[in-house]
Amino acid sequence: MTTSVKSIEVLHHATEMHCAVEALRRNGKTVGLVPTMGALHEGHLSLVKAARRECDVTVVTIFVNPTQFGPGEDFRSYPRTLEADLRQLAQFDVEFVFAPANDEMYAPEHSTYVEPPAVAQPLEGAFRPGHFRGVATVVLKLLNMIPAHVAFFGHKDYQQTLVIRRMVEDLSLAVDIRVCPTIREPGGLAMSSRNQYLSPPQRHQALALWQCLCRAEELVRGGENNADIVRAEMRAVLAIAGIDRVDYTSLADPETLLELKTLDRPAIALVAAHVGKTRLIDNLPLTTSNVHI
Ligand code: AMP
Repeated sequence: MTTSVKSIEVLHHATEMHCAVEALRRNGKTVGLVPTMGALHEGHLSLVKAARRECDVTVVTIFVNPTQFGPGEDFRSYPRTLEADLRQLAQFDVEFVFAPANDEMYAPEHSTYVEPPAVAQPLEGAFRPGHFRGVATVVLKLLNMIPAHVAFFGHKDYQQTLVIRRMVEDLSLAVDIRVCPTIREPGGLAMSSRNQYLSPPQRHQALALWQCLCRAEELVRGGENNADIVRAEMRAVLAIAGIDRVDYTSLADPETLLELKTLDRPAIALVAAHVGKTRLIDNLPLTTSNVHI
Protein backbone atom coordinates (compact mmCIF):
# COMPACT_ATOMS: atom_id res chain seq x y z
CA MET A 1 0.00 0.00 0.00
CA THR A 2 1.37 3.42 -0.87
CA THR A 3 0.87 6.33 1.44
CA SER A 4 0.51 9.69 -0.14
CA VAL A 5 2.37 12.48 1.60
CA LYS A 6 0.46 15.69 1.30
CA SER A 7 2.60 18.42 -0.21
CA ILE A 8 3.40 21.42 1.94
CA GLU A 9 2.89 24.92 0.74
CA VAL A 10 6.07 26.83 1.54
CA LEU A 11 5.51 30.57 1.65
CA HIS A 12 8.16 33.26 1.97
CA HIS A 13 6.11 36.44 1.99
CA ALA A 14 4.08 37.82 4.88
CA THR A 15 1.23 39.10 2.71
CA GLU A 16 0.60 35.74 1.01
CA MET A 17 0.81 33.98 4.38
CA HIS A 18 -1.65 36.43 5.90
CA CYS A 19 -4.09 36.04 2.98
CA ALA A 20 -3.93 32.25 3.22
CA VAL A 21 -4.71 32.26 6.94
CA GLU A 22 -7.48 34.85 6.56
CA ALA A 23 -9.09 32.66 3.88
CA LEU A 24 -8.91 29.61 6.14
CA ARG A 25 -10.51 31.56 8.99
CA ARG A 26 -13.31 32.77 6.71
CA ASN A 27 -13.96 29.13 5.84
CA GLY A 28 -14.34 28.28 9.51
CA LYS A 29 -11.01 26.45 9.86
CA THR A 30 -9.01 26.66 13.09
CA VAL A 31 -5.35 27.48 12.59
CA GLY A 32 -2.45 26.35 14.78
CA LEU A 33 0.91 28.11 14.70
CA VAL A 34 4.23 26.46 15.61
CA PRO A 35 7.06 29.02 15.56
CA THR A 36 10.55 27.51 15.22
CA MET A 37 14.05 28.39 14.13
CA GLY A 38 14.28 25.16 12.13
CA ALA A 39 16.84 22.33 12.45
CA LEU A 40 13.80 20.38 13.54
CA HIS A 41 13.93 17.52 16.03
CA GLU A 42 11.40 15.45 17.99
CA GLY A 43 10.79 18.38 20.37
CA HIS A 44 9.58 20.59 17.53
CA LEU A 45 7.64 17.71 16.04
CA SER A 46 5.79 17.17 19.32
CA LEU A 47 4.46 20.74 18.97
CA VAL A 48 3.45 19.99 15.39
CA LYS A 49 1.61 16.86 16.55
CA ALA A 50 -0.20 18.88 19.24
CA ALA A 51 -1.22 21.46 16.63
CA ARG A 52 -2.40 18.72 14.26
CA ARG A 53 -4.51 17.24 17.06
CA GLU A 54 -6.13 20.50 18.10
CA CYS A 55 -6.42 22.55 14.92
CA ASP A 56 -7.73 22.01 11.38
CA VAL A 57 -4.67 23.55 9.73
CA THR A 58 -1.08 23.80 10.98
CA VAL A 59 1.39 26.52 10.04
CA VAL A 60 5.04 25.97 11.02
CA THR A 61 7.36 28.94 10.80
CA ILE A 62 11.08 28.51 10.23
CA PHE A 63 13.08 31.65 10.83
CA VAL A 64 16.40 32.10 12.59
CA ASN A 65 15.57 35.37 14.26
CA PRO A 66 18.63 37.64 14.35
CA THR A 67 17.22 40.00 16.98
CA GLN A 68 17.17 37.35 19.70
CA PHE A 69 20.90 36.59 19.38
CA GLY A 70 23.45 38.71 21.20
CA PRO A 71 26.83 39.75 19.84
CA GLY A 72 29.20 36.78 20.01
CA GLU A 73 26.32 34.26 20.06
CA ASP A 74 25.73 31.60 17.40
CA PHE A 75 23.46 33.41 14.93
CA ARG A 76 25.81 32.79 11.99
CA SER A 77 26.57 29.17 12.80
CA TYR A 78 23.01 28.23 13.85
CA PRO A 79 22.04 25.13 11.80
CA ARG A 80 19.90 25.94 8.76
CA THR A 81 18.43 22.74 7.28
CA LEU A 82 15.29 23.81 5.41
CA GLU A 83 15.16 20.87 2.97
CA ALA A 84 15.46 18.27 5.72
CA ASP A 85 12.95 20.20 7.86
CA LEU A 86 10.39 20.17 5.04
CA ARG A 87 10.83 16.42 4.57
CA GLN A 88 10.11 15.88 8.26
CA LEU A 89 7.07 18.14 8.22
CA ALA A 90 5.65 16.44 5.12
CA GLN A 91 5.31 13.27 7.19
CA PHE A 92 2.95 15.11 9.53
CA ASP A 93 0.71 16.53 6.82
CA VAL A 94 1.61 20.09 7.76
CA GLU A 95 -0.24 22.37 5.35
CA PHE A 96 1.93 25.50 5.47
CA VAL A 97 5.50 26.42 6.22
CA PHE A 98 6.35 30.09 6.48
CA ALA A 99 10.07 30.58 5.82
CA PRO A 100 10.71 34.29 5.40
CA ALA A 101 14.03 35.86 4.47
CA ASN A 102 15.58 38.24 6.98
CA ASP A 103 14.48 41.35 5.12
CA GLU A 104 10.90 40.09 4.94
CA MET A 105 10.82 40.16 8.75
CA TYR A 106 13.07 43.17 9.30
CA ALA A 107 13.13 45.91 6.71
CA PRO A 108 16.35 47.96 6.77
CA GLU A 109 14.48 50.79 8.48
CA HIS A 110 12.92 48.49 11.15
CA SER A 111 13.22 50.15 14.54
CA THR A 112 10.21 49.12 16.65
CA TYR A 113 10.63 46.46 19.34
CA VAL A 114 8.48 44.97 22.08
CA GLU A 115 9.56 45.91 25.59
CA PRO A 116 9.33 42.51 27.28
CA PRO A 117 7.58 42.04 30.65
CA ALA A 118 9.29 41.90 34.05
CA VAL A 119 9.54 38.11 33.98
CA ALA A 120 12.05 38.49 31.13
CA GLN A 121 14.58 40.12 33.42
CA PRO A 122 16.14 37.35 35.56
CA LEU A 123 17.92 34.18 34.37
CA GLU A 124 18.07 34.18 30.55
CA GLY A 125 17.37 37.91 30.56
CA ALA A 126 20.38 38.56 32.78
CA PHE A 127 22.75 36.35 30.77
CA ARG A 128 21.39 37.18 27.31
CA PRO A 129 20.54 40.89 27.38
CA GLY A 130 18.09 41.76 24.62
CA HIS A 131 17.18 38.12 23.96
CA PHE A 132 13.55 38.36 25.04
CA ARG A 133 13.11 41.71 23.35
CA GLY A 134 13.97 39.89 20.13
CA VAL A 135 11.78 36.90 20.99
CA ALA A 136 8.75 39.01 21.93
CA THR A 137 9.15 41.15 18.82
CA VAL A 138 9.37 38.24 16.41
CA VAL A 139 6.52 36.32 18.05
CA LEU A 140 4.27 39.38 17.90
CA LYS A 141 5.20 39.91 14.25
CA LEU A 142 4.52 36.26 13.42
CA LEU A 143 1.16 36.41 15.20
CA ASN A 144 0.25 39.50 13.19
CA MET A 145 1.29 37.87 9.93
CA ILE A 146 -0.35 34.55 10.83
CA PRO A 147 -3.51 35.24 12.85
CA ALA A 148 -3.72 31.74 14.31
CA HIS A 149 -6.27 30.60 16.88
CA VAL A 150 -3.68 28.70 18.91
CA ALA A 151 0.13 28.95 19.13
CA PHE A 152 2.30 26.12 20.48
CA PHE A 153 5.51 26.48 22.50
CA GLY A 154 7.79 24.11 24.38
CA HIS A 155 8.25 23.89 28.15
CA LYS A 156 11.96 23.45 27.38
CA ASP A 157 12.14 27.25 27.02
CA TYR A 158 10.16 27.85 30.19
CA GLN A 159 10.97 31.51 30.70
CA GLN A 160 10.06 32.17 27.06
CA THR A 161 6.60 30.69 27.66
CA LEU A 162 6.08 33.08 30.60
CA VAL A 163 7.23 36.05 28.52
CA ILE A 164 4.89 35.13 25.67
CA ARG A 165 1.89 34.43 27.89
CA ARG A 166 2.37 37.79 29.60
CA MET A 167 2.77 39.60 26.29
CA VAL A 168 -0.37 37.95 24.88
CA GLU A 169 -2.31 39.04 27.96
CA ASP A 170 -0.83 42.55 28.21
CA LEU A 171 -1.18 43.35 24.51
CA SER A 172 -4.67 41.75 24.27
CA LEU A 173 -3.68 39.34 21.52
CA ALA A 174 -6.48 37.03 20.36
CA VAL A 175 -4.55 33.77 20.45
CA ASP A 176 -4.51 30.84 22.87
CA ILE A 177 -1.09 29.70 24.02
CA ARG A 178 -0.33 26.03 24.58
CA VAL A 179 2.81 24.80 26.30
CA CYS A 180 3.91 21.26 25.44
CA PRO A 181 6.17 19.00 27.54
CA THR A 182 9.93 18.84 27.00
CA ILE A 183 11.02 15.97 24.78
CA ARG A 184 14.26 14.32 25.89
CA GLU A 185 16.92 12.01 24.50
CA PRO A 186 17.00 8.55 26.15
CA GLY A 187 19.51 9.69 28.84
CA GLY A 188 17.37 12.73 29.70
CA LEU A 189 19.17 15.41 27.68
CA ALA A 190 16.52 17.88 26.49
CA MET A 191 16.38 17.88 22.71
CA SER A 192 17.71 21.07 21.18
CA SER A 193 18.91 22.15 17.77
CA ARG A 194 22.13 23.16 19.56
CA ASN A 195 22.78 19.54 20.61
CA GLN A 196 24.17 19.15 17.07
CA TYR A 197 27.18 21.17 18.18
CA LEU A 198 28.10 18.57 20.84
CA SER A 199 30.80 15.95 20.30
CA PRO A 200 29.98 12.46 21.67
CA PRO A 201 31.91 13.10 24.93
CA GLN A 202 30.24 16.50 25.31
CA ARG A 203 26.84 14.91 24.74
CA HIS A 204 27.63 12.61 27.66
CA GLN A 205 28.77 15.55 29.78
CA ALA A 206 25.58 17.44 28.91
CA LEU A 207 23.51 14.76 30.67
CA ALA A 208 24.58 16.47 33.89
CA LEU A 209 22.09 19.28 33.23
CA TRP A 210 19.22 16.82 33.50
CA GLN A 211 20.93 15.02 36.37
CA CYS A 212 21.29 18.22 38.40
CA LEU A 213 17.57 18.90 37.96
CA CYS A 214 16.75 15.35 39.07
CA ARG A 215 19.05 15.81 42.07
CA ALA A 216 17.14 18.95 43.03
CA GLU A 217 13.88 17.05 42.82
CA GLU A 218 15.30 14.20 44.87
CA LEU A 219 16.54 16.53 47.61
CA VAL A 220 13.24 18.39 47.80
CA ARG A 221 11.32 15.12 47.91
CA GLY A 222 13.59 14.04 50.74
CA GLY A 223 12.54 17.11 52.72
CA GLU A 224 15.35 19.57 52.00
CA ASN A 225 13.77 23.00 51.92
CA ASN A 226 16.80 25.26 52.02
CA ALA A 227 17.05 26.50 48.45
CA ASP A 228 20.72 27.54 48.78
CA ILE A 229 21.68 24.00 49.74
CA VAL A 230 19.78 22.57 46.74
CA ARG A 231 21.31 25.13 44.34
CA ALA A 232 24.79 24.25 45.60
CA GLU A 233 24.06 20.54 45.09
CA MET A 234 22.94 21.23 41.54
CA ARG A 235 26.25 23.00 40.90
CA ALA A 236 28.11 20.09 42.47
CA VAL A 237 26.48 17.65 40.03
CA LEU A 238 27.58 19.87 37.13
CA ALA A 239 31.10 20.24 38.57
CA ILE A 240 31.54 16.47 38.94
CA ALA A 241 30.69 16.15 35.24
CA GLY A 242 33.40 18.73 34.48
CA ILE A 243 30.97 21.52 33.62
CA ASP A 244 32.57 24.60 35.13
CA ARG A 245 30.89 27.40 33.20
CA VAL A 246 27.48 27.59 34.80
CA ASP A 247 25.33 30.64 34.16
CA TYR A 248 22.76 29.72 36.79
CA THR A 249 21.23 27.00 38.91
CA SER A 250 17.91 28.43 39.95
CA LEU A 251 15.04 27.48 42.24
CA ALA A 252 12.40 30.00 41.47
CA ASP A 253 8.76 30.85 41.76
CA PRO A 254 7.14 29.28 38.67
CA GLU A 255 5.21 32.46 37.82
CA THR A 256 7.62 35.31 38.60
CA LEU A 257 10.92 33.42 38.34
CA LEU A 258 12.11 35.21 41.48
CA GLU A 259 14.55 33.09 43.46
CA LEU A 260 13.17 31.27 46.48
CA LYS A 261 14.87 31.02 49.86
CA THR A 262 12.67 28.27 51.23
CA LEU A 263 11.21 25.45 49.18
CA ASP A 264 7.88 25.27 50.98
CA ARG A 265 5.68 25.73 47.90
CA PRO A 266 5.71 24.83 44.20
CA ALA A 267 8.95 25.85 42.52
CA ILE A 268 10.78 25.34 39.28
CA ALA A 269 14.40 24.27 38.99
CA LEU A 270 16.25 25.82 36.05
CA VAL A 271 19.77 25.49 34.79
CA ALA A 272 21.91 27.14 32.11
CA ALA A 273 25.47 25.97 31.51
CA HIS A 274 28.13 25.80 28.83
CA VAL A 275 29.35 22.46 27.55
CA GLY A 276 32.39 23.32 25.48
CA LYS A 277 31.24 26.24 23.34
CA THR A 278 27.58 25.21 23.48
CA ARG A 279 25.21 26.91 25.88
CA LEU A 280 22.39 24.64 27.06
CA ILE A 281 19.30 25.26 29.21
CA ASP A 282 16.81 22.97 30.91
CA ASN A 283 14.22 23.04 33.69
CA LEU A 284 12.06 20.82 35.87
CA PRO A 285 8.96 21.87 37.81
CA LEU A 286 8.95 20.78 41.44
CA THR A 287 5.22 20.47 41.95
CA THR A 288 3.30 20.38 45.19
CA SER A 289 3.23 16.58 45.06
CA ASN A 290 7.02 16.52 45.43
CA VAL A 291 7.39 19.57 47.65
CA HIS A 292 7.13 19.03 51.40
CA ILE A 293 4.91 21.69 52.91
P1 AMP B 1 13.50 26.79 18.61
O1 AMP B 1 13.53 26.30 17.20
O2 AMP B 1 14.65 26.30 19.44
O3 AMP B 1 13.26 28.28 18.70
O4 AMP B 1 12.23 26.12 19.27
C1 AMP B 1 10.95 26.27 18.71
C2 AMP B 1 9.93 25.77 19.69
O5 AMP B 1 10.18 24.39 19.97
C3 AMP B 1 9.97 26.52 21.02
O6 AMP B 1 8.65 26.72 21.49
C4 AMP B 1 10.74 25.56 21.91
O7 AMP B 1 10.44 25.69 23.27
C5 AMP B 1 10.24 24.22 21.37
N1 AMP B 1 11.19 23.16 21.73
C6 AMP B 1 12.54 23.17 21.53
N2 AMP B 1 13.09 22.05 22.05
C7 AMP B 1 12.07 21.33 22.59
C8 AMP B 1 12.00 20.09 23.29
N3 AMP B 1 13.08 19.36 23.54
N4 AMP B 1 10.78 19.66 23.70
C9 AMP B 1 9.67 20.40 23.47
N5 AMP B 1 9.67 21.58 22.81
C10 AMP B 1 10.86 22.05 22.39
